[in-house]
Amino acid sequence: SHEDHLRERRLAAVGQLAAGVMHDVNNALNPIMAAAYLLRHYAESPDAVRDYADRIQKAAEIAAATASRVGRFIRQEPVHAGGDEALDLSAMAEDVLDLTEPMRLRRSSDAGEVLIVRQFAPMVSTRGLPGEIREALLNLVQNAVDAMPDGGTLTVRTFEEGADACLAIRDTGVGMSADVRERAFEPFFTTKGSKGSGLGLAEVYGIARRHRGTATISSVPGRGTEVTLRLPRAVGIEPADAEPDASSLPVVP
Ligand code: ADP
Repeated sequence: SHEDHLRERRLAAVGQLAAGVMHDVNNALNPIMAAAYLLRHYAESPDAVRDYADRIQKAAEIAAATASRVGRFIRQEPVHAGGDEALDLSAMAEDVLDLTEPMRLRRSSDAGEVLIVRQFAPMVSTRGLPGEIREALLNLVQNAVDAMPDGGTLTVRTFEEGADACLAIRDTGVGMSADVRERAFEPFFTTKGSKGSGLGLAEVYGIARRHRGTATISSVPGRGTEVTLRLPRAVGIEPADAEPDASSLPVVP
């Protein structure tokens, strides 16, 4: 009957939400655990303690964004119901490179090294939910690293183009066939078997949409992939929590 059909669709949506929550919480917990471990064993100066605490806070904000998304879903609220902040995409990108550093270094030790190239415009302003934007970038960096099992170069660019604040993440990895590229944003589509959830790019797509932006993929099999996030540019605002960038922080062992 019609009611059964609706019930089934609701259950499917709840299952999808639960899988998404697990994926995001895991993604946020990894850097929290890594930073807590480093804090406990290696932080020798107050500056280092502050740096690790900062990473833990930022990763925790991602988990908090997940929680509020679940809340909105349960209350059936429109997704963009305020709470957005002035953001600088260059600072966000730097945060995410910090958060993923322990993961990248761990990878580099047993496979090829992943070189990071930053091409950041000084201030690329947009408005949005910082936890969600960080989560999208985290997924993109994770995918780029996954695509380069033997190492390679990860290039992160931020720039303004017309009315858009843009961020592009490029890898020199395996690339995508046309088939994979077409399906890559589908929830649960993965080529990584049991290691993949197929939710990373679906999240990126949803987050871009919620911020009235777009996410696009360009990829050449065997050469690499670039994913570009375009969000509406915010003009004439300064992020409230602007901080000096963290690229001069001590390298983690
Ligand atoms: P997952 O990473 O769990 O598989 P995603 O939704 O993030 O889920 O990605 C879906 C699929 O898109 C991946 O399984 C992979 O085949 C492809 N993909 C995503 N990012 C890249 C990339 N940077 N390079 C090559 N393939 C990618």
